[in-house]
Amino acid sequence: MQPDLTEQFLELVRLTSTDLPADVEKSIREAREREENGSAAQGALDTVLNNVEMARENSTPICQDTGTPIFYVSHPQGWSTRELRKQIVNAVIEATKRTYLRPNSVNAITGLNTKNNTGDEHYPTIHFKEVDGDKLIADLMLKGGGCENVGAQYKLPNAKLEAGRDLEGVRKVALDAVYNCQGKGCAPGTLGIAIGGDRGSSFVASKEALFRSLNDTNPDPVLAELEERITEQANQLDIGPMGFGGKTTVLGTKIKGLHRLPACYFVSVSYMCWAYRRRRMFIENNETTYA
Ligand code: SF4
Repeated sequence: MQPDLTEQFLELVRLTSTDLPADVEKSIREAREREENGSAAQGALDTVLNNVEMARENSTPICQDTGTPIFYVSHPQGWSTRELRKQIVNAVIEATKRTYLRPNSVNAITGLNTKNNTGDEHYPTIHFKEVDGDKLIADLMLKGGGCENVGAQYKLPNAKLEAGRDLEGVRKVALDAVYNCQGKGCAPGTLGIAIGGDRGSSFVASKEALFRSLNDTNPDPVLAELEERITEQANQLDIGPMGFGGKTTVLGTKIKGLHRLPACYFVSVSYMCWAYRRRRMFIENNETTYA
């Protein structure tokens, strides 16, 4: 029989909300070292890092906006996704009671808050995938509202930006998206970019790209080079942490390509704030581990 993983999902939510991943923290610390001593940019990053330490110590949310919970669950054959969904929803309700999550879900029309982070079948967002083997892997990302608001989707070609249907066009619109943020959405951020797909799949894939580690390299050397170039050029815009100016506007760029119709060339840019909360849980042979 399928085990009840409510407690394990609850711990996944707690860790995600209160304990920034090591790769993100390291990247912010490195950014702090690059900024000028005594600058507003360095001060902003000091505040961020203090906050990260306090949240971890006290098991309290890293940011008051605990964001939209986005789950990806890869499960072995035979598992009931209806059961898993119930367990995840119950874990989210309990996490809200314990204040790991702020009550964030409101009715689209009335604005009424459900007060427990549930709603329709899209809240929390849960994606399931059946995979080979016996291991269940659950990824969670908490995507804040401020950074979600500055995401953008482009349809190439874009005459105003002189962006054609090629990777140079992708570079131009990605930098336009960063420029338009001007530090809003709580820079330094990380860019998740999807090239291709339709409008819906493109935005979903741009968020999936954000589940990658900041330290990894895109296996496609062409995209790897583009990721580096966009990050480097974004950091020359002098927008800086929280828009105070400085050397770090983005921590990294992650790009994913999707097949597309010949008639369509979408580029979706999802922006993730410095509170880059994502965690992974593994369940195998009744053992649970978190990364
Ligand atoms: S954008 Fe991120 S850091 Fe800024 S308020 Fe929202 S969740 Fe917090």
